[in-house]
Amino acid sequence: MNYRLSRIAAICGGKFSGCDSEVRSVVTDSRSLSCELGCRPMFVAMRGANHDSHDFIAGMQSRGVRAFLVERGVEASSCTGECGFVQVDNAIEALQRLAAYHRAQFRGTVVGITGSNGKTVIKEWIAEELPEGMKYYRSPKSYNSQLGVPLSVLMLEGDEELAIFEAGISKPGEMERLERIIRPDAVIFTSIGDAHQENFINLEQKCDEKMILARSASKIIYHSYYEPLGRMVAAHFADRRPVDAAAYPEVPESVIGNAASRRNAQIVEAFCDAMHYPAPSFAAAPSVAMRLEVKEGINDSILINDAYNLDLNSLALALDYLHSVALSRRRTLVLSDISQSGLTDDELYSRVAGMVARAGIDFLIGIGPRLKRYAALFACDKEFFTATDECVARINRDAVAGRAILLKGARDFRFEKLVHLLSRKSHTTVLEVDLDAMIHNLNYFRSKLSFGTRLVAMVKAGSYGAGDFEVAQMLQHQGVDYLAVAFADEGVLLRERGISMPIVVLNADADSFDVMIANRLEPEIYSFHSLGAFADAVTHAGESRYPIHVKLDTGMHRLGFVEQEIAQLCATLAATPQVKAASVFSHLNCADMPEEDAYTRAQIALYDRMSAQLAASLPYPVIRHTANSAAIERFPEAQFDMCRLGLGLYGFGFRHNDALRPVSTLKTRIVQIKRLPAGDAVGYGRAGKLTRPTTTATIPIGYADGLDRHLGCGRWSVLVAGQPAPIIGRVCMDSCMIDITDIPGVKEGDEVSVFSPVPGNDLETMARVLDTISYEIMTSVSGRVKRIYLKE
Ligand SMILES: *Cc1c(COP(=O)(O)O)cnc(C)c1O
Repeated sequence: MNYRLSRIAAICGGKFSGCDSEVRSVVTDSRSLSCELGCRPMFVAMRGANHDSHDFIAGMQSRGVRAFLVERGVEASSCTGECGFVQVDNAIEALQRLAAYHRAQFRGTVVGITGSNGKTVIKEWIAEELPEGMKYYRSPKSYNSQLGVPLSVLMLEGDEELAIFEAGISKPGEMERLERIIRPDAVIFTSIGDAHQENFINLEQKCDEKMILARSASKIIYHSYYEPLGRMVAAHFADRRPVDAAAYPEVPESVIGNAASRRNAQIVEAFCDAMHYPAPSFAAAPSVAMRLEVKEGINDSILINDAYNLDLNSLALALDYLHSVALSRRRTLVLSDISQSGLTDDELYSRVAGMVARAGIDFLIGIGPRLKRYAALFACDKEFFTATDECVARINRDAVAGRAILLKGARDFRFEKLVHLLSRKSHTTVLEVDLDAMIHNLNYFRSKLSFGTRLVAMVKAGSYGAGDFEVAQMLQHQGVDYLAVAFADEGVLLRERGISMPIVVLNADADSFDVMIANRLEPEIYSFHSLGAFADAVTHAGESRYPIHVKLDTGMHRLGFVEQEIAQLCATLAATPQVKAASVFSHLNCADMPEEDAYTRAQIALYDRMSAQLAASLPYPVIRHTANSAAIERFPEAQFDMCRLGLGLYGFGFRHNDALRPVSTLKTRIVQIKRLPAGDAVGYGRAGKLTRPTTTATIPIGYADGLDRHLGCGRWSVLVAGQPAPIIGRVCMDSCMIDITDIPGVKEGDEVSVFSPVPGNDLETMARVLDTISYEIMTSVSGRVKRIYLKE
């Protein structure tokens, strides 16, 4: 895009003031690097449920941003001379209007994709199959929301032949607005399922809403397998002859194993046919990970693997992510040639060089003959290879150790080998942690907080087993107010990795007070003894007014001051200038138990009384907090100034809650398959007696990995190809055997899910089988199981 700011005001009906300037891109996230990467950005300030990004305007000005779209007046004192402002009532609506205008100027063909699943896969797949040399645009990642769609439309340069956008909805009325922005010439309907069903009366109502996208489209593609959507599209748009992708030949099962992917392939075929493009080759397997993967690399490095597509927009987003993950680490970028940008190589690589410089990359590893030709443009340390194999053979270890490494390669460059080389090796059992699901859960709980209520994220015990640094880094990026760990060591580790936000240590032990002070970790103080010892440590360190968190015992009887001690505590704090009570808190030990609600209410009242007495005695404000996850949902009156979110973040409520998304999947692979006769027995003690001829598979996960021994002998089933396979016989230390007799086509090396968000295979069910709670299972997954983080 390219508009004067005054023109933007006219297009979206806003009030213009200050200096006019040219706007080439839009930024809504103040932490984004895009102001450095993109040219001439306009920062959009919005008031959200829990934050107000108008606070960042001065900061953005100091980073060189000159154009602003705002929802309220900005004090004259906070702006420099050259800035311009467009003031509107609602910034998202204004962006939507601007995007609709920008779309109306576009002369190429616009494709809209909607449906419950498969939107991003189909979009990427189509992009892969487009005719050589055609300039096209596709929305980055899954930018498909009320904000994502306008942002992605505004990234259109204008001279593309084809533009592909996704449209996602979660409630009635939303498609109407997205359709006005995208105005697709062709619409693709993917699958329909229960995703985002909460706000619709039934599936038909959701289908009706989705069909609005095709209101003025001349080409419509759907798949009649997906009912009732298929039937409804065929009837509603009968006059426009919608194309049923089911009529296209199926790709053989040997090429694409998964049935849903084969249907997606038919949709891509139908689309190419409708557009008169050559038939797709399906050369690239669709199994390519659609999401970015973060994992531990060799020599204490972190790897960010984002190799599913490569263009300038996705490179900018990935650099942004590298920036947020790297924190204090040095940064290495491994980049391949970029194809099909629609730019000349001169222009393309000079833009890339600018982005690399501004993203603070310390080391560039370039792969591909074209990038190599432009080596001189890059000022950082660098190394170039013609092909991925050459890099695998000769990579410079200095570019790896301790660094944050972004791998961004076009699919043809097959970065898989490189990723394999750089990954820290461990056995094939991994815990996959879905960071997007965690952000979803965080926002779910934030939406329950009243305005201004702060949040502590509980990351004790390695984030309930989900892993330490990556989760903490994400929470810091999401603007959570505090992190809480159990022991000082956990906090020190986070500081070493560059986490700079406040961290509370719950089990602060006097032996670690010095280390804590040296690392700016804030202790929970629960007794006069711990208060005295900590004050001495502060004196020793030559500090004063060091923040502490005072714990009150309101009934749990674990740690904390009791009511009779409050008066003395007030006096002691007044006489102890070494410390400052940053917060005063207690824990509701039955917030998840409706039968104990009378007790919990009394506990909240006691906490209110005790903490108020303490707060009144202090000459400075103190944050009061007592609610954990269950209390956030069940006792709005217990929110006080801050809440502490634990279990909910990881996807579990006080009872089963479909609005939450479990974040962890424990996966492994089959290492051996055996066909055994009836009468034989499997495992230690011959406990797994076979009553029929049985096919067994051995998987490398045992009780030392956290697979509870009580899950053996048929009490738990893992999933193989989506089907349940019971554990036969006893669980061994490092492995166990499963029954795959009834599952056809299983091979050695196939993936197995031990637990996952899939109903029946989930942690809540496993907890019932084991007569425990999901907390215990999550925190029992052993440290030798490698954690992998997934992110859009
Ligand atoms: C673990 C913990 C929490 C979090 O509880 P959840 O039930 O996981 O939300 C809150 N406060 C304290 C003091 C804790 O130890």
